[in-house]
Amino acid sequence: MTGGTGFIGSHTVVELQQAGYQVVIVDDLSNSKVDVIDAIEKITGIRPEFANFDLSDRAKTLAFFLKNSDVKAVIHFAAFKAVGESVTKPLEYYRNNVNSLLNILESMKLSGVSSLVFSSSCTVYGQPKQLPVTESTPRLPAESPYGNTKAINEDIIRDFCHAEPSIKGLALRYFNPIGAHPSALIGESPVGVPNNLVPYITQTAAGLRKELSIFGNDYNTPDGTPIRDYIDVVDLAKAHVVAIKRLLEGKNKANYEFFNIGTGRGLSVLELVNAFMKSTGVNLPYKIVGRRAGDIEKIWADTSLANNELGWKAVVPIEETLLNAWKWEKNVRNLK
Ligand code: UDP
Repeated sequence: MTGGTGFIGSHTVVELQQAGYQVVIVDDLSNSKVDVIDAIEKITGIRPEFANFDLSDRAKTLAFFLKNSDVKAVIHFAAFKAVGESVTKPLEYYRNNVNSLLNILESMKLSGVSSLVFSSSCTVYGQPKQLPVTESTPRLPAESPYGNTKAINEDIIRDFCHAEPSIKGLALRYFNPIGAHPSALIGESPVGVPNNLVPYITQTAAGLRKELSIFGNDYNTPDGTPIRDYIDVVDLAKAHVVAIKRLLEGKNKANYEFFNIGTGRGLSVLELVNAFMKSTGVNLPYKIVGRRAGDIEKIWADTSLANNELGWKAVVPIEETLLNAWKWEKNVRNLK
């Protein structure tokens, strides 16, 4: 697994190990800490193997695959993911995110690994005209270089699986992943001021930030704030387990497949803030400010395909997800 010490990666390592899979993590720790491996071991009792290198290095990537000839499948999480930064550093984002995938695919071919699960994003849909979005909803031009690397990488996988029929690819288009492991031993650790809503909320609740700024309440939604489909990170991690199983058991219906991974339910920013206060009992100071550039108004998933084909469904209630995010934040800050 690439990016296995990151937010979604670490939760997926746990779920894979608990389902009986043996996991090797590849990560260069550019946006995560090595302590995550201790935390994973604490949760599952199993220490995952770990290789520290940069997957945009072609020779190192191939050498890893040739050396680890028992690898049966790849889950590729490792990527630069800050939307705003991708606008100011496009070449770094394209170089890192696209080259890593090219190196992985080439190495898979040369070492005989045939299954790849790729972490994609609902960002490929832009602002869809019809909601909820299904997998037949057309993709729209990306809003940022980051978003574009997701679309480009999906296309690269599709084309490569077409050219190399022995290779199977499956992309999971995540909606908004939030929460933390119920053990509070792993969770999201943004560097600096968080861009995403839930880490900003938990840091505000912990007293690190004065108040949450809500970016606009003049959208065409019931309470005026934007709507997203917030998916619990453990539910999301479990989607990877079923995806890997599908490919390894040859249950896939096409060489390249893609699925929406969300709850099917849209929540506004205000609804999420209120759910946080209700489930944690913590008061959250907030103010309404202007819109954030590039934000879309509303999006949520139609998850029928994932439900029916993968046999996967999001089950964790939003209150529990937010409580887990809060427990994690308190643990990180040594709060009671
Ligand atoms: N948001 C907000 N204040 C913040 C961060 C986010 O009001 O400090 C809103 C943002 O406008 C969007 C939603 O929360 O409507 C989710 O934003 P996030 O960055 O978490 O995910 P996105 O959907 O933009 O990828």
